[in-house]
This record gives sequence, structure tokens and C-alpha cells, in this order.
Amino acid sequence: MVARVIPVEDFDLVIFGATGDLARRKILPGLYRRFWAGQMPPGARIIGAARTDQETESFRATVREAIAEFVAAEKCDPETVAAFLDGLSYVTVDAMGTGGWQALKDRMRENVVQAFYFSVAPSLFGAIAERLKGNGIARDGARIVVEKPFGRDLDTARALNATLAAHFDETQIYRIDHYLGKETVQNLMAVRFANMLFEPLWNAQYIDHVQITVAETVGVEGRGAYYDGSGAMRDMVQNHLMQLLCLTAMEPPAHFEPNAVRDEKLKVIRALDPVDSDDIVRGQYKAGPGGASYRDDAGNPDSLTESFVAMKVHVSNWRWNGTPFYLRTGKRMKARMSEIVVQFKEPPHNIFTEAAHPRANILTIRLQPDEGIDLRMTIKEPGPGGMRLVEVPMDMSFAEALGPEAADIPDAYERLIMDVIRGNQTLFMRGDEVEAAWAWTDPIIAGWTARDDVPLPYDAGSAGPEDALILLYRDSRRWREIAG
Ligand code: NAP
Repeated sequence: MVARVIPVEDFDLVIFGATGDLARRKILPGLYRRFWAGQMPPGARIIGAARTDQETESFRATVREAIAEFVAAEKCDPETVAAFLDGLSYVTVDAMGTGGWQALKDRMRENVVQAFYFSVAPSLFGAIAERLKGNGIARDGARIVVEKPFGRDLDTARALNATLAAHFDETQIYRIDHYLGKETVQNLMAVRFANMLFEPLWNAQYIDHVQITVAETVGVEGRGAYYDGSGAMRDMVQNHLMQLLCLTAMEPPAHFEPNAVRDEKLKVIRALDPVDSDDIVRGQYKAGPGGASYRDDAGNPDSLTESFVAMKVHVSNWRWNGTPFYLRTGKRMKARMSEIVVQFKEPPHNIFTEAAHPRANILTIRLQPDEGIDLRMTIKEPGPGGMRLVEVPMDMSFAEALGPEAADIPDAYERLIMDVIRGNQTLFMRGDEVEAAWAWTDPIIAGWTARDDVPLPYDAGSAGPEDALILLYRDSRRWREIAG
């Protein structure tokens, strides 16, 4: 099978924060993988920019190491790596000062796509945006990519939007949420809107409930100071889980076009009911089989920050009235697993015996560890001896259905960066979406703060606090097992 890929124009991509962790682990190895896949045009140039004073050669050496560490060995043949590094250069730039901007301007070419990736702390976004325009570096049509966190509440998100809007038009701003770059997340839209089978059933009449889980085994991993001031609600729910919820719950857009999709997502966020405090479980891991306690990891012995949240959410509109969405995310869980589970209702009448009770169909959209889609169906167990029913998976894992080449799917970051170069904003959050998500999140966090809410302890390496199980038990439902 030969994949049809939309060609990419020549570009200058400047990565601010090129010496940082995200650039080293994700952005630069991801760009290399696209190069290896033959998706980079010959005129692609990548310019690293950061405060560290170094020459292009030493930058290339660190990128070579990052490729060796984060790209599969079979893709790292020396000629391809060398050819990729040839297209890389480095400029020392101080985001807050004047040094380096002229050198950066001199490096930019005319008549190619311009993209600027702000892989730096959000406090630098404004200064960089201002200098890009003020020094005449960013031309009309230049694109900027901004990383999370996009604000820490509605006020800061509004301020950040206003800062960027002072220099760039909304059509130039790409707010990245790497969950939207995952193959299966886009496949969710294909499954819903390219098949007749699901959409007629995609509503409260036929769907019992939806579960969205993002479970991580890692703790705060050296991001303790940032995370402790943030917590799972800000770090995961407001952005990643919210985006997954939107794509699951949204109405079909009229076109697969950036604003049409984003309009529909925004309507979902605006339809979310405020969450009752009884419908949220907040947790913090203590030492357990999965490792040390959150407080030790975060270096804050008195921390009241949550590393786990489970909640029941209602999308208050015609389609979803009566179908709850359960969201759950946590660190130091027993397995790494991200999935969206759509549980259909049971057939209204059982024509079989009590022993042969048909189960509800379950559609699972797996984001990690193995991306794929699985539909559980009930069929007759083969063989004689009467009607016995058995549940079987119809597993649409990409490798099996489309061959091993299709299983070699690009990482979310590399896909999203190529979308920036193509000028496609469909998988990026618009400013009003981000603000609406904060407007819904803020009162929840304000409630915790007002009552000095103490998160419930759970063992590192477990499935979260017991109360998270009860959240579903009391609705006669069960979470899916967290398993890798
Ligand atoms: P990091 O490792 O701390 O790197 C920060 C980068 O910013 C470094 O390259 C640093 O350059 C540069 N920098 C700092 N001050 C500067 C200045 N005044 N002028 C120019 N460059 C400056 O941070 P990171 O983990 O890569 O994160 C970058 C962004 O991505 C942040 O917004 C973060 O929230 C977001 N993010 C990161 C991750 C992740 O896994 N790391 C995940 C999601 C989102 P020098 O060291 O050369 O000074």
C-alpha cells in the first residue's frame, strides 16, 4: 500500500528552546523521522534558537545524540542522519533581550513557509512574538506554534491570547495539544463520520456512557515545581481530556475544515454542566509498589495538589441528555493506558436464556500503548449444545488491518508540525476553545481551593483512590481495568 501524502512546501522552521527537553525528546527526533520517511521537501531548513552560546556544529552534535536516543535504530543510517543535520543550523538568541535577533533575521529566506515553534516557558511567548514582529523577522502568513500550558486559568489564558493577538492573527497561531495529533484520535472522526454504522447510534438513546481514561505510570519526572503549582485538573483535564471529550461528543461538522471542526468542539465545551463536588474524586499518590510518594517526588511535604482526578460530566444538549461521560486521569497508575470507551446499551429484550444474556457492545478507541480501535460484539459460541453467547473483539489494530507499514505511524508531534507547515489548523486549539475550557475548569479548582480540599491518597502503582471506583458503582457501572 502506498500512502498518499499531501506534499509540503519548502520552509524555515525556527525552534525557540531548541536546547530544551521537549525539543530534544520530541520535536527534533520527530522532524528527523519525517525526513527519513521522505516527507521533507529539499528546501526544508530547521533553525535552533536558544540562549546557550554555541555554534551550529555543536548543536548538530546534540541533535545527532537525540536522534540516536529517541529514533529506532533501523531508521538511523548515517547518510540519512548526516543529510538531515545538513539542513540544521543554530542561532544564539535571548528572548528577553536584543542579542541574536539580527542573526536570526539574516538566516531567514524569502518565499518559503515560515514557522516559529515556541518551545519555551509561556512567560517568554509575548517577548518572542513582539521581537519577531518588531525586528521584521516574521512576515505576513508566518505561523507560530505555542506549547502547553496555555494559561493556568481563564484570566491568564485571556491575557496570553491578547498578547499573541497583538502580533499575530488567529489564523497564524497553532496552540498544540499533542493528543490531537494521535492517529487514533483522528480515526475517531473517520469512524464516526465516514461510516454509516455508528453515527445513527451515537446518542443518549443507544449509548449508555462514555469513559475517557489517560493513565500514566510516570510521576512528576523532574517537573515537580511546575506540576505542583498545576495538578492533574490543569495539566491534563482542561486540555487533553477535554479535547478527547469534544471529539467524541461533537456534532458532525459540515466540512473537515479547521473552523468547522473547532466550532463544533466549542459547542460541546459550552454545553458542559458545572460539575457537582460529589461527582469528582481527587487523589494524590502515596508511596506504593509504583514508587515514592507524590510529595517526595514533587519535593513539597505539605502539597495538596492532585495527581489524579476522576469525574462524571454531563454534556447538556439534545444528543447527550442522560448519557454521562466519565473522565479519569492519574500519575503513577498501575499501567500506561489512554483510551476512549463508548459503551452502548444492552439490547432492550433478551430472546435467549438468562445464561445466554447478550452483553453491551463496547467500542474502544485506544491511544496508548498500542493505537487501534476495538469493537466488542456478542456472537454464538461455536459448537453444539445449544445457544451459548460469547463476547469477541473485532480488533481494528492498524498493523493487522493495513499491514506493518501502516503500524509505523508518525508520532503526534511530527504529524502536528507537518500540519503547521501545510497551514492546516484543524488539529490545533482555537483561542476561544481554550478560554471556554478554562471557564468550565476554574470553578472546580476554585471550589477545592476555597475548602482546602485534601486529595485522597492512593498507592503509587494502583488504579487510583477507592472512591473513583465508587463514582461508577453508584451508577451501577464499572471502570475498565487499567492495563497496559
Ligand atoms: P526546558 O527543558 O526548560 O527548555 C527551555 C528552553 O527555553 C531551553 O532551550 C532554553 O534555552 C530556552 N530559554 C529559556 N530562556 C530563554 C531566553 N531568555 N531566551 C531564549 N531561550 C530561552 O523546557 P521544555 O521541557 O523543553 O519545555 C518547553 C515548553 O514546552 C514549555 O512551555 C513546556 O511547558 C512545554 N512542554 C514540555 C513538555 C516536555 O515533555 N518537556 C511537554 C509538554 C509541554 P537555554 O537552556 O539555552 O537557555
